Amino acid sequence: MSHEHVRGFVLREVALGEADRLIEILTTQKGLVTALARGSRRVRSPLLAATQIFALSDFTLFNYKGRTTIDSAELVEPFLRLREDLDRLVCAAHLAEVFHDLVRDDLSDDRMYVLWAYSCHAISSQPDPLLVTHVAQLKALAVSGFTPQISYCQSCKSTQIIEGWFDFQSQGLVCPKDYRPIQGQAVLRLSAPALACLRHILQSPVERLFAFNVSDPVQKEIRVFSEQYLTVIMEKKYQRLSLLQDL
Ligand SMILES: [Zn+2]
Repeated sequence: MSHEHVRGFVLREVALGEADRLIEILTTQKGLVTALARGSRRVRSPLLAATQIFALSDFTLFNYKGRTTIDSAELVEPFLRLREDLDRLVCAAHLAEVFHDLVRDDLSDDRMYVLWAYSCHAISSQPDPLLVTHVAQLKALAVSGFTPQISYCQSCKSTQIIEGWFDFQSQGLVCPKDYRPIQGQAVLRLSAPALACLRHILQSPVERLFAFNVSDPVQKEIRVFSEQYLTVIMEKKYQRLSLLQDL
C-alpha cells in the first residue's frame, strides 16, 4: 500500500461500469500510468474534469496489490480547445494513440512528456493542427529510437544530398544519381525544401520544433512521408486522421 503524487496528461479514458473511468496518464517520471478513477463520470465528482481526456492534472495515486486508483486530482490545464474543435480533437486523439503505442510503462526519461506538452499546445493553438500532428509524430518516432536515415545516401554514402528518394523498405535515403526505380518498391521523392524541413524536425529542440514555414506542396510531402513512415515503423494502420479527409 502506498500513495504517490504525479503530474500528467490524460492520454486515454475508457468508461467502466456505471460511473468509473479507467485512464492512462503520461507522466514525467513513470511513463504511462494506468489508473482507475472511481465515480469520475458523475457530474458532481471532484475527479470529473481532472480525469477527462487531454487534461493535465496533479494526481494522488494509491497503489494496492498491483492496482492503481486515483485518490484525488487537481486540474492544471483542461486543453478545452482540443475538445471543442473537431479537427483538433481528431488530431489530438490520433497523436495520443501514437504516443500510447510508443511510450513504455517504465520509461524514466521525460522527453515524450515534454514533446506531448508542446504538441498539445501547438495542436490547440496553431492554424494547421494536421501539420503539427505529423511533425509531432515524426519527432515522437525519432525520440523513441526510430529516426529515419535522411543524412546521407545509403548507396554512395555521400552526405551532400539536398534532394532524393526515401526507400521505406530499407528506411534510407538514395541520391538522384543512384536512384533506380524498381517496380512495387515503396519510395517517396523528397524535394530539397521537404528534405530540409524533415532535417529541421529531427534536429531541432522541441521549443523550436513547430516554428517553420513551408509552402503547401512541401507540407503535403511532409504529411505523406510522416503517414507512410509511421505505418512502416509501427506495422499498423492508424485510422483516425482519415476522418479529416472525409469531412
Ligand atoms: Zn548516392
